[in-house]
This record gives sequence, structure tokens and C-alpha cells, in this order.
Amino acid sequence: MLNAASGRVAFCLPFRVAGDSGFKIRHDAAIMPELPEVEVLVRGLRPLLRGKTIRSVKVRRERVTRPTPPRELEKALSGAKFRDLSRRGKYLLFELQPKKSKKVLTVLGHLGMTGRMFVALKKEKLPSHTAVLFDLGDRNFIYEDWRYFGRMSLDLSPIEKLGPEPMDKNFSAEAFAKLLKQSRQAIKVKLLDQGLIAGVGNIYASEALFRARISPKLPANRLTLERAKELLRTIREVLNEAIKYGSTVPLKTMSGKSDALFYFGDGGEGFYEERLRVYNRAGKPCLDCGTPIKRLTQAARSTFYCPNCQKK
Ligand SMILES: [Zn+2]
Repeated sequence: MLNAASGRVAFCLPFRVAGDSGFKIRHDAAIMPELPEVEVLVRGLRPLLRGKTIRSVKVRRERVTRPTPPRELEKALSGAKFRDLSRRGKYLLFELQPKKSKKVLTVLGHLGMTGRMFVALKKEKLPSHTAVLFDLGDRNFIYEDWRYFGRMSLDLSPIEKLGPEPMDKNFSAEAFAKLLKQSRQAIKVKLLDQGLIAGVGNIYASEALFRARISPKLPANRLTLERAKELLRTIREVLNEAIKYGSTVPLKTMSGKSDALFYFGDGGEGFYEERLRVYNRAGKPCLDCGTPIKRLTQAARSTFYCPNCQKK
């Protein structure tokens, strides 16, 4: 196993299957971190980065800083201190205090499909797909991404277009219902629209619809206020459960050094799937009624649902 071999303290996250050979694509190629995975990562990284000064930054895969020129990012962040880390939708927001300026700098991070962000001792070998490397003294903060769909840039425009945070108490079911009324798209497709609600992806959209007993094919504007209310409740429920679960996964202390080393990614096969009621369960019996779960393609993404529990 990667963790044993590297001796790194590992923190497991549920959303993918990875190993020494890298990312194993399951039948649904688009498995991406969603709100809970990013939230758990942020909570894990925050105490490791806060207060740390960046000695230097090296961009090794220029694509990931787009549209910020790589040298600009390196220059802006060298000597800066990490003040805080937060999340918006599926984005990580690194707040930094530059050395020579009072103005706080925000770096926008996104894991894309195969991104990992972790802190490792400097003596450890760098992963071959290290995209951006932050020298923190005795440790490195590493952003690794072998497909380079992720981001580490100074361009904050992607978060300006995001819809409300689903967990935000001020986001009401009435407001949610009103937004849904404006679209004739199938509800499952609409839920993936980050401008509607931020952070929900393919897995949790299927799960929330199942729990709310809503057909993924139902046009968004046909949801009654009552059903929209129930859907917002189940969205919050599935996201909260996943965050709670991810937060309780024990750190693997292979090296015996459990002090703040952090590794993001290797969840291992079957790690989280059994907690999912419909996602990736095509052909298996519905846990509520026994009807085989169906798989459907919507907007080039897989949807999983129970044709009996989610008739309309
Ligand atoms: Zn069912």
C-alpha cells in the first residue's frame, strides 16, 4: 500500500479508489471530490498550514495556475504566511499575508478530478505529478495532480458565479424552490449546476434525490415547495453525514509519527460505497424496497435511482 510504503501518515477520504498505480477509473469516469471531501480536507489542512511561512513556491505544471501566470503566482506567494483556509463550494480558499504588503492575498484551489493536497516531510520523495510545491521549511505543502484538471490560482472569478452554500442556514427552502422554478432541466442535472447551489456533485445529487423519493428525471420547475423543502433537507443530510464520516476516519500512523503529517486521497476499495444507497449500485436491490437500482445517463453523467421509490 502507498501509505505503508511511504511511511506517511495517511488520511483517507471516501470518494475514490487510488493506489500505487494512481487513480483507478471506475465505471463512472467522472468521480470528483464534492463539498464534503473538500470540507474534510480543509479541516485537516487548516491547522497544518496556519501560521506557516512559505519560503518558496515552485510551479511544476504550468497548466494548473491558469489564468495566473506561474511566475506571478510564485512571486506573489514567496515569503507569504498562511493566515487561514476555508471552503466555498468545491473550492479551497487559501488566505495569505504577503511579506511586503498589508493586503491579504487569496489563492483559489480546486482538486479537479485527481488532485491531492497534503503536507509531507521534506526528506520524503516528491510525487512525480507534483503540480505546485510550497517550501515550508522542514516540510513541503504539495499539490499533486496527475491529470491537471485542478487549480491553484489568484483568479477568484469562479467563486463569484457560485450559488448559495447548501448548509447555509440563511438559504431557505423557499429560495431553493424559487430557483428550481426557473428551470425545466431534469432535477438531477440542475442539482449539478454550481450556480444553483454550490458543492453538490454527481454522488450526493443521486443520494439526496433517492432519500427525498424524487425522480431524477423530474423537470426542476415541477417540484412543489413541499418537495423542494424535503430535497433541501436530504441534500443537507447526505452532505452532513459524509462530512461527519470523513472527519472520523482515523489517521494511519504508519511511521509512528502522527504529528501533523497529512495525506489526502487513498481511500481504498469499498471504502465508502457501502454507505451510499444508490450511487454505483446499478442492478443491486434497493435498500428500501428491493427493486433493482437503475443507472441512467443524464448530461453525460451517471445517475442512479430506484424506479419504484422514485417514480415521480
Ligand atoms: Zn426502492
